[in-house]
Amino acid sequence: MPTGQAQGSAAPRVLVVEDERDIAALVAYHLTREGYRVRTASGGEEALEALAAERPDIVLLDLMLPGFSGYDVLAEMRRREEWKEIPVLVLTARREEADRIKGLELGADDYVTKPFSPRELVLRVGAVLRRVQAPAVSAGGRVLRGGPIAVDLAALRATVDGAELDLTPTEFRLLSSLLERRGRVQSRQQLLEHAWDIHAHIETRTVDMHVQRLRAKLGLAGDYIETVRGFGYRFRPT
Ligand code: CA
Repeated sequence: MPTGQAQGSAAPRVLVVEDERDIAALVAYHLTREGYRVRTASGGEEALEALAAERPDIVLLDLMLPGFSGYDVLAEMRRREEWKEIPVLVLTARREEADRIKGLELGADDYVTKPFSPRELVLRVGAVLRRVQAPAVSAGGRVLRGGPIAVDLAALRATVDGAELDLTPTEFRLLSSLLERRGRVQSRQQLLEHAWDIHAHIETRTVDMHVQRLRAKLGLAGDYIETVRGFGYRFRPT
């Protein structure tokens, strides 16, 4: 059974976008061995064609592609209604924080810096898929409320004053985690574990980027997510 695959569901489809053939082949080999169905694309245009041909469950996206770059692919995916929910794990050779942040700002769910171990990559793919597919938090049809914000855990809907928010799966889980533990301060590490289902090998800066985007989408209600300096975040107690 593939790592992180839900029992009984079909093998998850992974689209690997990578122009370095050795890396693409290595990644494809390890994912296939874990039971994933893998399709590869060696450039940005080819990636868009592959997306249109068959919707993947997750995209592993190299940012540095010749021509139509990984950033372009990501931006296009987040623009298009039919693709914007697909989780994206960014692969980047660049160590500069600015590039990773740009990827996260454009709506990537997570990133892996090259060189990476195939084992770690497979685990990360499993974690991202679990996070997207599983219910946000343990709850049966509950609606969490805080100020003008409501989160329907069963319907996977979040609203502000009744207006539905357009959240990515990661943002939804982040908001649910904060609201579920309302008034309690949560460290970035705790948020990673609750909302990301990842226990190591990820930088807490990722949490900051996602909180920033979530706040922007909440508009004025974004103030309900408070920064607790030097520690983390909390959903305003009252
Ligand atoms: Ca590349």
